[in-house]
Parts: sequence; structure tokens; C-alpha cells
Amino acid sequence: MKPVIALVGRPNVGKSTLFNRLTQTRDAIVADFAGLTRDRHYGNGRLGRHEFIVIDTGGFEPDAGSGIFKEMAKQTRQAVAEADVVIFVVDAREGLSAQDHDIANELRRLGKPCLLVANKAEGMQDSAKLVDFYELGFGEVHGISAAHGQGIRGLVELALEPLHLPEDDEDEEEEANKPVKLAVAGRPNVGKSTLINTWLGEERLVAFDMPGTTRDAIVVPFERNGQRFELIDTAGLRRKGRVFEAIEKFSVVKTLQAIETANVVLLLLDATQGVTDQDAHIAGYILESGRAVVIAINKWDAVDSYQREQVQRQIEMRLPFLKFAALHFISAAKRQGLGPLWQSIVQAHKSATRKMSTPVLTRLLHEAVQFQAPKKSGMFRPKMRYAHQGGMNPPVIVIHGNSLEHVTDAYKRFLEARFRKEFDLVGTPLRIELKTSH
Ligand code: GDP
Ligand code: GDP
Repeated sequence: MKPVIALVGRPNVGKSTLFNRLTQTRDAIVADFAGLTRDRHYGNGRLGRHEFIVIDTGGFEPDAGSGIFKEMAKQTRQAVAEADVVIFVVDAREGLSAQDHDIANELRRLGKPCLLVANKAEGMQDSAKLVDFYELGFGEVHGISAAHGQGIRGLVELALEPLHLPEDDEDEEEEANKPVKLAVAGRPNVGKSTLINTWLGEERLVAFDMPGTTRDAIVVPFERNGQRFELIDTAGLRRKGRVFEAIEKFSVVKTLQAIETANVVLLLLDATQGVTDQDAHIAGYILESGRAVVIAINKWDAVDSYQREQVQRQIEMRLPFLKFAALHFISAAKRQGLGPLWQSIVQAHKSATRKMSTPVLTRLLHEAVQFQAPKKSGMFRPKMRYAHQGGMNPPVIVIHGNSLEHVTDAYKRFLEARFRKEFDLVGTPLRIELKTSH
């Protein structure tokens, strides 16, 4: 499970700037985000081998009376509750303010580990203004400059240190023998619990473990057609008698963590509601994670043929970046369409973990180039020499050659389509990296 760091502080202290600093290390994504408004408040960060989730809580007004401010305070409290550690940001230039005191009190009440950070501290290490912040009672004041990138690495190390994260050295066990980690992601009320209970009612439940600490994901192992699965919880599933029920409302953090932990994500939509902004956000996170994905539109029993057409159109318009995913129309309540859905889940996992040998990749690359060579750009004609696999889940194909920086996006898409067809890759993103040797 990735640890979660929440950034809290009054407006204008530099939270967004710090957020951008912490998340900019993310690998660039090849895919197209057109038509998707992205929620900038949740991001992925990385320090060395450690990855973490950062939440920028926007503004925090502990005494906010009503309306949007009250809602923001509520969101901030939820973010703090879900975080492993809070970075409390104050403004080193403006000095201590009454609002900082209010926030400090609120954070003390919430009882999360906190690091106090004085931002905008470039060139003022020994300033008297930093000393004032000790009054807040959070121990050491860490001076940083988000804008100039000073003190950021040390800050993240300090934040992650108390969590005693294991070095995540992927064990060498064969992918094929490992259970498939599956997350069911979707807005509240799309039918996640109904679907999970339908599944688990049909299948042999191997065991059910309650984790010891809140940092562990709740995992429900089960088997289907001889294949082992682990269902990663997205909503605080609890067993109640013979059935599971979600005890929490929708949680962005839990959803993000489940997506990151999973091999395959089932994105569940509600046919009676169509594709909403929140659905598109979740879809965006899934794409960014690189996980394999299957889309299921639930409650198919409750819509007429006109609505069905509408939903299909909406998916094409609003989720064009998930074109590679299989699409299923199901009814969890009426147990319709669930067999083919399973086939797609298994196929998505196979695609995501496919092994592609260097000789085969290189041969396919040469065939593709022979069919259609990359365009010359000015003096340069990109020359593709060989390809090898650079990773799994998502599969990464690394192509080596010369002048590859002149390869167009369209040509990359052409190659992607060829590789997808040859390896029968359905339900997984495929990343293509170009490495030029000079
Ligand atoms: P937020 O409202 O807390 O998210 O604050 P922003 O990230 O939007 O920053 C508020 C202002 O402070 C912007 O004008 C930033 O350019 C500026 N700022 C952010 N970090 C630093 C810093 O390290 N040093 C200085 N001098 N200014 C900064
Ligand atoms: P969750 O919040 O995503 O876990 O959603 P639930 O499983 O609690 O379902 C929300 C509502 O949708 C409940 O009233 C379910 O009975 C209903 N529901 C779930 N699946 C279906 C379905 O396939 N068809 C219809 N018509 N209703 C469904």
C-alpha cells in the first residue's frame, strides 16, 4: 500500500507549489487525456524506490461556517483522517498567523503525525520568523522552499521514515502462480457491493482476513475456475453475517490505493446514471496507474434500448482513452453477463503480464518499419534497431535506435497497434519508450 501524505495549511502558503514539486517525478504518460477534467488534488510522488500519494487539501478554514468552506473543511478532515502523515505548511515570509494557530489546534484534535514546514524559506535559515513557529507546538520547524526545490527530499524522507516502509523488492515468484489482484472501482451506488456479493456467493471463499493495522489493504482471497484471485477493497468492506457490505462512503484515497495495488481494475459504471465526471476521474486514475482495466456497465436490466444507446455513446465520448479496455453490459442483481466479464478480467491480466522476447519484438519492429517507415524530419530519418521488454503490468516496449526523438506520436500509435495485434493485448495499456543512442 502506498503511504499517503496530506498537505494542510491556510491558502497561499505554497501547498500547490509543494504538491507540484512532489508529484512532478511521475513518468510522462503517452496516452491522451482529451475530454477529461483532472482532479489536481491527488497525485503520485516518488522518492528513490518509495512511491506515495499526495493530497493537496486546498484551503482549510477550521471555523468555516457553511457552504463551500464547510465542504472544504470536511474534505480536508477526511483527507487528514486517511493520511499516514500530515505536512502542515506555514509561510516563513509572512510569519505566524492566527489562522495557523487554529489549524494547529484542529490538527492536534485529529491526532495524526505532523511535520511542521515553513515554506518560502529560501535564504532565511536562521531567521527569527522561523523561531516563532515553535509556538505551534509541533516540534522542529523545517524550512523549505517549494518554489526553488530546497529541502524537499529531506522533507519526504522525514515524512516517510516513521512508517517503516519495507523496501519493495518484488519477489521473484512467477507471475503465473500469484493470485490476480482485482479491484472493483466505481462511484457510490453503482453496485460494487452487489456485484462482489454475487461473486462471492457463487465462489468458494478461501479465507477472510482482517488486517492488523489500518495501513493494510483488506483483501478477500477466492478462487474461480482454478485461478486464484484477491479482491482488493475500495470501500472498507466488512463481513456481516454471510454478506459483505461497504461501511464507508466513497473514499478517493482507498480507491487510489486499491487501483495501485491491483493487477486488474474493474471500472463499474451505472447504466441508469450514464458516465459522470466522477466516473471520468476514476477512469483517469486507472489510466495513470497503468493497471489493466475492464469496464462493466451495471444495472443493464433497468434501462430501455434508448438509454442503452445513450450510455454507449457517452462511453465513447467521455472515456476515449480507455479504448483498449473490454466493455461489458451486466446486471449484478440479476446475475447477467457475469461469465463473459470474468473472461475479460482473466484476459486483461494475461495481456498485462505477457512476456515478449527480444527476438520476437525486434522481428515485429522490423516488419512494421518495412511496412511503413517513420517519416524523415528535416535532415534526420529515425532508425529503429531493436526492441526489448522493459516491464510488465503495464507492458513496456523499449525501442532502441538513432534519431528517435523525431518519431511522431502518430507513428508511435501505429507501432502500438501492431504490437497489440501481434501479442493479442486487450485490456491493458501498452507503453512504448524510445531510446536514442548517439
Ligand atoms: P496554496 O494556496 O497554499 O496552494 O499556495 P500556492 O502554491 O498557490 O502559492 C502561493 C504563492 O506563493 C504563489 O505566488 C507561489 O509562487 C508562492 N510560493 C510558493 N512557494 C514558494 C517558495 O518556496 N518561495 C517563495 N518565495 N514563494 C513561493
Ligand atoms: P455500491 O455503493 O457501489 O456498493 O452499490 P450497491 O451494491 O450498494 O448498490 C446500490 C443500489 O443499486 C442498490 O439499491 C442495489 O440494489 C442496486 N443495484 C445493484 N446492482 C443492480 C443491478 O444490476 N440492477 C439494478 N436494477 N439495480 C442494482
